[in-house]
Amino acid sequence: MFGWWFSRNFVSPSAPTLVPMVLSALFASYLWLLLDVALGMRVLRWLSSGDTLQTPVAFGLWGEISDRVRRLARSRERAVQQRDDRFQDFLAAMQASPNGVVLLDADLRIEWCNQSAQSHFGLDGTRDLLQHFGNLVRDPGFAAYLATGDFKGDVLMPGRASTSAKPVRLSVHMHPYGESRTLLLSRDVTAVEQAEAMRRDFVANVSHEIRTPLTVLSGFVETLQSLNLNEEERARYLQLMALQAERMQSLVSDLLTLSRLEGSPLPSAQEWVSMEPIFEQCRHEASELSRVLWGQPQGLEFHIAPDITVAGSVVELHSALLNLIGNAVRYTPEGKNIYVRWQAQADGGAEFTVRDEGVGIAAEQIPRLTERFYRVDRSRSRETGGTGLGLAIVKHVTQRHGAELSISSLPGQGSTFTIRFPASRVCLPKPSGLANLTDAA
Ligand code: ADP
Repeated sequence: MFGWWFSRNFVSPSAPTLVPMVLSALFASYLWLLLDVALGMRVLRWLSSGDTLQTPVAFGLWGEISDRVRRLARSRERAVQQRDDRFQDFLAAMQASPNGVVLLDADLRIEWCNQSAQSHFGLDGTRDLLQHFGNLVRDPGFAAYLATGDFKGDVLMPGRASTSAKPVRLSVHMHPYGESRTLLLSRDVTAVEQAEAMRRDFVANVSHEIRTPLTVLSGFVETLQSLNLNEEERARYLQLMALQAERMQSLVSDLLTLSRLEGSPLPSAQEWVSMEPIFEQCRHEASELSRVLWGQPQGLEFHIAPDITVAGSVVELHSALLNLIGNAVRYTPEGKNIYVRWQAQADGGAEFTVRDEGVGIAAEQIPRLTERFYRVDRSRSRETGGTGLGLAIVKHVTQRHGAELSISSLPGQGSTFTIRFPASRVCLPKPSGLANLTDAA
């Protein structure tokens, strides 16, 4: 068009027709170039804006280029997002760990630590970043561990919250990784250490308890073998030996009871135990014990409400009640009284109480009575055939039946031991009026 107009006005009609065509082509190319540059600039501006959501050109070569760039950018963004999500998941998992995790750089400065590490060492996750770990945790044992640089094993140290009343023990282990970096892991081992200490004490106590009667027994055996004793002396020695053997038997029997209580499933909540026969048996056994220990039965009074049943184990309930009644007999001098009561409670539960007028217990001793082998008066316990395990058994049985044990005592005046069974474990007799109505129905 432009070529035709130009040739009509500015080129003589005699000029060949090729000129307008060339001019037209040149002009068209120029226009194409202008358009192309404009589109290219637009794509360039779009790329520098960073917003690759919408393509700036929808057609032609630039349209194709920008569309491919947009798709590439989108897939990169997605990959980065996925990596970020994975990293956040990983951090969340490290935060959720009950163990402390601290990432240290080549100079042992804190790069990151989780919540548990913060409470183990008293760190602040933001304030203490890039602080040297050794400057913040100054336990001498840990300092020596750091100084040796030998991280094959762990080191034990007190936690930040540790006090003498409530000790906290940490196991800290450092693991070098990557380029001179270190991963520090901390674990609260207080419970493990306490369990281990208890196990050691228990083994030592059992060995001691068994060794004493064994030593006495072997002494008697030696005497019987080496001395020429008359019949009466022999009989007395044999009686003393039988007493020691009996002591060992009671100890082993109580140990077995304890281990059964710890290792067996909880007593059934569906088996209903009638309590009267148990009390009858306890009354018989307590009178017998009282006669053996004190020569004449003590004042033993039983007030047992009828028809109250408890869901649980007959053997365990009998063992707990007999231990408490037996203790009352053993720690109450002759001539004094013991009162045993079993009664319903207003809340639908039931309460067992044994009150004695015996030696009593000082207030500070009461919280420790249910510990294994804990005795207030060691010699009195031994003289009366105690093993030091009775109240530990009572505590286990009580807990296994969802019940509560409470102890109150005044030295010189006597003690009261109470077990409260919850309504869920107790079946009370129907009130007589109601019983008649149901019977009639
Ligand atoms: P033991 O076999 O020595 O009696 P227990 O576990 O039954 O062991 O009791 C722990 C300690 O509690 C006893 O050694 C005793 O000092 C004290 N104790 C338990 N019952 C009574 C009681 N009724 N009166 C006074 N002291 C008691």
